[in-house]
Amino acid sequence: MKIYNTLTNKKEEFVPHKKNLVRMYVCGPTVYDLIHIGNARPMIVFDSFRRYLEFLGYEVIYVSNFTDIDDKIIKKAIDTNSTQKEVSNKYIEECKMDMKNMNIKEATFTPYATDEIKDMILFISELIDLGFAYKVSDGTVYFDTSKVSDYGKLSKKNIDDLKSGFREITVTGSLSKKNYTDFVLWKPKKENEPYYDSPFCEGRPGWHTECCVMAPKYCGGALDIHAGGEDLIFPHHENEIAQFEAVFKEPFSKYWMHNAFLNINNEKMSKSLGNFFTVRDILNKFDGNIFRLFMLSTHYRVMLNFSFDLMESAKKSFERIENCILNIEFLIKKLGNRVENFYNDDELFENKLEFYEYINDVLSANSDLNSDEIDIINKIKNYVDIYFDKLDDDFNTADAITQIYEIVKIVNQTANEKSNLLFLLFCFEVIGTLLGILGIKISIKNNIDVEIESLIEERNIARKNKDFKRADEIRNLLIEQGIELEDTRQGVKWKRIK
Ligand code: AMP
Ligand code: ZN
Repeated sequence: MKIYNTLTNKKEEFVPHKKNLVRMYVCGPTVYDLIHIGNARPMIVFDSFRRYLEFLGYEVIYVSNFTDIDDKIIKKAIDTNSTQKEVSNKYIEECKMDMKNMNIKEATFTPYATDEIKDMILFISELIDLGFAYKVSDGTVYFDTSKVSDYGKLSKKNIDDLKSGFREITVTGSLSKKNYTDFVLWKPKKENEPYYDSPFCEGRPGWHTECCVMAPKYCGGALDIHAGGEDLIFPHHENEIAQFEAVFKEPFSKYWMHNAFLNINNEKMSKSLGNFFTVRDILNKFDGNIFRLFMLSTHYRVMLNFSFDLMESAKKSFERIENCILNIEFLIKKLGNRVENFYNDDELFENKLEFYEYINDVLSANSDLNSDEIDIINKIKNYVDIYFDKLDDDFNTADAITQIYEIVKIVNQTANEKSNLLFLLFCFEVIGTLLGILGIKISIKNNIDVEIESLIEERNIARKNKDFKRADEIRNLLIEQGIELEDTRQGVKWKRIK
């Protein structure tokens, strides 16, 4: 598998430090409000990438933090007459709820910055001892970027340009730092702000230090992947690299992955422009699976444009896949079989190897398939191969999803009442698995209990006996239970409507 590494500006073969283990750290949100749909992009992209790594057989240690102390949180606390802790706890809970509704798998560890202050102080002290940091008269501790010869290596910023800009500022301004690019490691408390004791002064850490402390601590070793949105490349990740490598004398991470931005109708999303949407706004209108399909239908390094029209078309695409699956499920049931709602994480194939074993087993079970079905299964297998090739090419989910549509198209054209059970099951398993790798789930909810099944049966009998009053009563009863019936030429179909 190849992934694009921001550090080298190249697609590189992915080879983690340890053979079967991936240590992955994704910078998480600052929690002062409901998360917005831009924040959802790295969450969905890197959660899907993690799922794919697991499907490839890797054990993944996935760490994503919450920045729970910061100027915006403190401002919100003052504005709402509450404490920083109350604000951050509230929005962490809200964020977790949104993440759950977007099928984001729980991280292996989710550290909070405020729980790591002690370690951050030790880390900053070490930077001072090593000569990489200095304290100025008001107690602020800065990182001295002039001590790092390759500062700027991630963002490829021209540091000399930045420095010449700084000279002008120092003439007119009152900056106390030595170099323009020097950044705050520790800042002194202001009135009414939460603070911590430290050898430097009473205050709190700057933002760029927390990940340097939490990543090695929770990932338990050298990082394979460090990820986040592209706005983090500079200064956040650049500054993380400078600090980390000053202390540990080894690369912070082998690969750096960054998602491009999400814009609204081709404009930057911002509250002042009035084009700002929270994840909650969108999930109130659309299922989280549709939102995921929308997000992953664009390659993660390409700017993603959001609009409600585009969401509506993602909804239509999702329904096309859903209808295909429900149709297969209906045909399977007609053959007297039942498919369980296997689209849960633990019911997917363990890994790619097992999945291909299954495909090959089906192909060798010739006697249970007719020759047309064998042809179609081979065609589907071809699309499956392309799907994986696309994911292996810098996680191109957009082109991988196209393969799912191709499979759906073939299945819609070929699956019918005459299909063999094994063929139907195959279609069902393949589509579900390819979606599941991307964390997209179609709910079959087919385990309607015996009561509902018998109601449908009773309605069939009532209709046969021309007792339409009873038939309508049963239809309404089922609607109350969220089941909608549709009379088709192949029999009664039902779907869950709530
Ligand atoms: P923040 O809370 O601002 O630190 O953001 C949390 C994560 O969301 C970071 O990885 C950001 O890069 C990412 N992010 C913020 N805004 C957007 C956006 N409009 N599009 C894509 N990613 C974003
Ligand atoms: Zn970070």
